[in-house]
Amino acid sequence: MKLYNTLSKRKEEFVPLEEGKVRMYVCGPTVYNFIHIGNARPMIVFDTVRRYLEYKGYDVNFVSNFTDVDDKIIKKAIEEGVSSEEISKRYIAECKKDMEGMNVKPATTHPLATQEIGGMVEMIRTLIEKGYAYEKNGTVYFRTRRFEDYGKLSHKNLDDLRSGERSLLVTGEDEKEDPLDFVLWKPKKEGEPSWESPWSDGRPGWHIECSEMSKKYLGEQIDIHAGGEDLVFPHHENEIAQSEAANGKEFAKYWMHNAFLNIDNRKMSKSLGNFRTVREISEQYDLQVLRFFMLSAHYRSPLNFSADLMEASKSGLERIVNAADHLKFLMGNAKTEEMTGEEQEAYAKTQEYVKAFENAMEDDFNTADAAAAVFDLVKYTNTTVSADSSKEYLQKLFDRLVSLTDVLGLIVDRKEEMLDAEIEKLIEERQAARKAKDFARADAIRDELLEKGIILKDTREGVQWKRA
Ligand code: AMP
Ligand code: ZN
Repeated sequence: MKLYNTLSKRKEEFVPLEEGKVRMYVCGPTVYNFIHIGNARPMIVFDTVRRYLEYKGYDVNFVSNFTDVDDKIIKKAIEEGVSSEEISKRYIAECKKDMEGMNVKPATTHPLATQEIGGMVEMIRTLIEKGYAYEKNGTVYFRTRRFEDYGKLSHKNLDDLRSGERSLLVTGEDEKEDPLDFVLWKPKKEGEPSWESPWSDGRPGWHIECSEMSKKYLGEQIDIHAGGEDLVFPHHENEIAQSEAANGKEFAKYWMHNAFLNIDNRKMSKSLGNFRTVREISEQYDLQVLRFFMLSAHYRSPLNFSADLMEASKSGLERIVNAADHLKFLMGNAKTEEMTGEEQEAYAKTQEYVKAFENAMEDDFNTADAAAAVFDLVKYTNTTVSADSSKEYLQKLFDRLVSLTDVLGLIVDRKEEMLDAEIEKLIEERQAARKAKDFARADAIRDELLEKGIILKDTREGVQWKRA
């Protein structure tokens, strides 16, 4: 299996540090709002990487954090007049709902930065002891030039950086020994959440969070570290500097980065305001469609969001689901149990599609080609089955199809699920019926929803619902 390593700028053969095991860390979102579909790209891409590694039999320890202390969270908390914790808790819960909708598996561990401050303080202390960090007026900085390999991931040269960073000198950061130095610990400002440390009551810098959480849950050396390409510099470059300086070992063997999800060919981002949340998309589409859309391009190619591409993904997914449904229908009515000799031969041929699928995934996770192999299998299935097919043949084809769609995280075998928008429409109708004292209709709607696995709860704040 080959994967592209940002560190070496080439595709490399994947060899895990420990046979049969993979230790993988993916930088997670900062939780101050609903996630947008740009944030969803790394989630879907690296969940698919994980699923393929598991398909190959690896035991994958997959860690992905939530950054729950940050300026943006604090700002949002002040705006709403609530605590930062309330904001981060709320959006972690919402993010998990979105992940479930996109069929992104929960990580083995989802650490929260605020729960790991002690470890971060320890790591900073080690960096100071080793001469890689220093304190000034309660702030601790990393001494960037001390770390000889600085720039090895982003392939940047320190002197080029130096000229690019001149602006820092005039932004009040001149207490730093060098403009390239970055913050490991900063003192609190009035009203901000803070923790005790030997240097000041304050909070950690963003980069040290990941160095510490990765070390705690995966060890000092890991196989794969991943995230969106905007994290290469400075976030991942700084993580490498911190971890390798503190631990004296190579941090991650392979660095994987997804390209941007764009809209009108510009990066989708909160700051540009050109974003669509996953939640908004879920009102229009089953999130499986979004997932399939994300996998329709190679993860290192930019992907432009458009209604046309979403529609194409929707019909593509339908083709796969219809084939699976058809197989299930035929299985339910099959007249013979066991495969005939001819069917055995026909089934053996499907191995070709599995091979094509695997070859695509082995080549730096080419999910677009892997999906093409699934379509070929679907086509083959549709043309070789009939009402006369044996149950065993149908079942085997079905299982083969599911084994591949499972790797892509596509659910082909599920009951009709209601979309959020449909549920909310029915709830509104029920409210209107109650207002009109048509309680029979209101109860009928409640029962109808319950039958589809939607539970309603009437609260003082209004009607809340959840999936059973
Ligand atoms: P953030 O919450 O901004 O730290 O982002 C969380 C993850 O989403 C990081 O891995 C980012 O690189 C990634 N990300 C943010 N915006 C985009 C985008 N438009 N396309 C792809 N990945 C993105
Ligand atoms: Zn990170």
